[in-house]
Amino acid sequence: MFVALTLLAVVGSGEAAVRAAREEFNAAIVRRDADAIARLLAPGYHIVTGRSDQSHGARNESEKWKTRFASDPTVTYRRSPREVRVNEGWGLAEESGEWDGSYTTAGNPARAKGVYFAKWQRALDGRWLLQAEVFTTLLCEGAPSACPPPEPIAKAAPPSAPASPRAVQKLKVTVLSTMLTGTQGIGEWGFAALVEVEGRRLLVDTGARAETVLKNAAELGVDLADVTDVILTHNHADHMGGLLTLRRELRARNPAALSRAHVGAGIFEPRLQPDGRDANGLLPLKTGYEALGGVFVVHERPEMLTPGVWMTGPIPRVHPERNWSGSLKVRTRGGLVEDTVPEDSAIVIETAPGLVVITGCGHAGIVNIVEQARKIGRGAPVHAIIGGLHLFAATDEQLAWTASRLREAGLVHLLGAHCTGVEAVFRLRDLANLSRRTAAVGAVGASFTLGQGLEATPLAR
Ligand SMILES: [Zn+2]
Ligand SMILES: [Zn+2]
Repeated sequence: MFVALTLLAVVGSGEAAVRAAREEFNAAIVRRDADAIARLLAPGYHIVTGRSDQSHGARNESEKWKTRFASDPTVTYRRSPREVRVNEGWGLAEESGEWDGSYTTAGNPARAKGVYFAKWQRALDGRWLLQAEVFTTLLCEGAPSACPPPEPIAKAAPPSAPASPRAVQKLKVTVLSTMLTGTQGIGEWGFAALVEVEGRRLLVDTGARAETVLKNAAELGVDLADVTDVILTHNHADHMGGLLTLRRELRARNPAALSRAHVGAGIFEPRLQPDGRDANGLLPLKTGYEALGGVFVVHERPEMLTPGVWMTGPIPRVHPERNWSGSLKVRTRGGLVEDTVPEDSAIVIETAPGLVVITGCGHAGIVNIVEQARKIGRGAPVHAIIGGLHLFAATDEQLAWTASRLREAGLVHLLGAHCTGVEAVFRLRDLANLSRRTAAVGAVGASFTLGQGLEATPLAR
């Protein structure tokens, strides 16, 4: 009789059920079982972490646990409820308590603890699921890099800028040269992308090999003959390779095809190797391009190419991102100095949900690029970044910093192609709270369409 009554009390008590579910969560962390954690989360689960990062979605959260378990064998957390209050009629419960945990970041162990609130809701099948959790760290012991303070709250909330009257309605960006490839086209260390905006078409960079972009475009069924303007983001040969071929082949069908090349000021400066030879990838092509009737348009500052579409010109290096190889020098009045690829330019497109940024190699640093883009776009959030971010050799700290800045800028879509780095794309996806659907490694044939998002290729999906 006593046993039966106790059992009834447990089944009927929301408090006991919530405490049991919490114990299940703790046990799942000990077992490193992200799937068991996922079963305790409502689909619309929301979390504010101990250092105030926020993310949304049960699937996203269980992916984060999976990544955490895989990357840090030492990570463990325990949540100890102090109080659970229940609205039995509506099936709602609030839990508050203390948490503590330990983990390792870049080889540095840390211990942290604090307090938390959790909101539970009873599902139709009677299980109690977490709707939201808010953690507050009160103490973190470990190396400074393992205990970073929360990101400061920006003075101006980014995603509230009014939509620009120039905002374009129709935009599609298709990758034509990068390392990974889809079911059509060939891959190479290089970059090129076609931008289709309000019926106009622009090419950004031209790939590394002379034939790649021409052949990939043909295989993808993309006709480049009506593309009159090409943007050359910087001087490196892996972005210049197709320039002469494309101009030569396409002008037979349209004399204006690829006839204008937009470049950032400084692109024609020689880049001297240690032995004194020049490594500028565009200089050897300059005369040939001009002989084919091509004209260079040099941009010293942000300029609009067509309504809502900007060429940045050289980008102020506010943050020391150092996204270049560092082996070349340029001649200045003060002598030889390190080549920082000063001409590195990006394309910024104003759209209703925010700015779409296209980079070649991102040598100016993606955070510098994003800040310049937002200056051009009058504070609008960054909706999408497509292209090379040159982060393949970045440290964990650099990636974490970059991701937090991209998150602050409101980033929703990332197609990290070319020199971004495969691991870097996945790290940024995780750290910037993006998902498999909104962040992918860029491949030949992959695209971003305004209003529809990314179309990654089968291997990158
Ligand atoms: Zn480059
Ligand atoms: Zn490159």
